[in-house]
Amino acid sequence: MIDLHCHLDLYPNVLQLLSTVAEMSTYVLFVTTSPRRWQATREVFKSYENIECAVGMHPEIVSEKYSERALLLQSISECRFIGEVGIDGSTRHKGTIDRQTEVFTDVVRESERVGGRILSIHSRNAATPILDIIEGEQVKSTYILHWFTGSMAQLSRAIDLGCLFSVGPAMLLSSKGKQLVSRIPLERILPESDGPFARLDGEPILPWEAMSIGSQVASLHSLTEQQVNEGINQNFSRLIAVADRIPLRST
Ligand code: MN
Repeated sequence: MIDLHCHLDLYPNVLQLLSTVAEMSTYVLFVTTSPRRWQATREVFKSYENIECAVGMHPEIVSEKYSERALLLQSISECRFIGEVGIDGSTRHKGTIDRQTEVFTDVVRESERVGGRILSIHSRNAATPILDIIEGEQVKSTYILHWFTGSMAQLSRAIDLGCLFSVGPAMLLSSKGKQLVSRIPLERILPESDGPFARLDGEPILPWEAMSIGSQVASLHSLTEQQVNEGINQNFSRLIAVADRIPLRST
């Protein structure tokens, strides 16, 4: 069971959850909301071999956490994966869009400077600025757009730029989400839970439930569930091969 975007530290019963993750999950990409949070939680999570800790700064709280910007940029050299990062252009967060754009641009540049990283990106109501920044900088990094909600035209542009997409059960609840997923090539799809924020029937989606997208993706792509799951596993193997070549700062 693979999950490429999960806020493990935010579930109510973290320690109990971790022991189940150790049994149920092959791999969980644990994305963090601030670099201080990353520093604290990676100590707790480091004994779990199937959990990868990504340093991030959630775009919704960039202005609150702005003082941690230097720590965020410094920490990029220590991580293969970066996230959650991005821009949120929705009405509630429009006021901080300049700071969000500045921090995201810095993260993308620093990731390139240190040899390329794999970024898990939030792009709600901000697909165009996100893609503009990626297009301007992209050389070595890999970009995963998490829970993409842009237009069909923005989706095509993201596909042309080589982006990957992490898709979760919650994204497949809406008809727009289904329509987008039907247009994403299978070779670009990875599973995500986005738990505990993302919910199904009122309950936070658990990391090992991310792979349950298989049957719906199969019907949207006119494939069998087995073909989709094999495809997703191959995408994951290719991603880990990229991650294994990332040069980390030796500490
Ligand atoms: Mn998230």
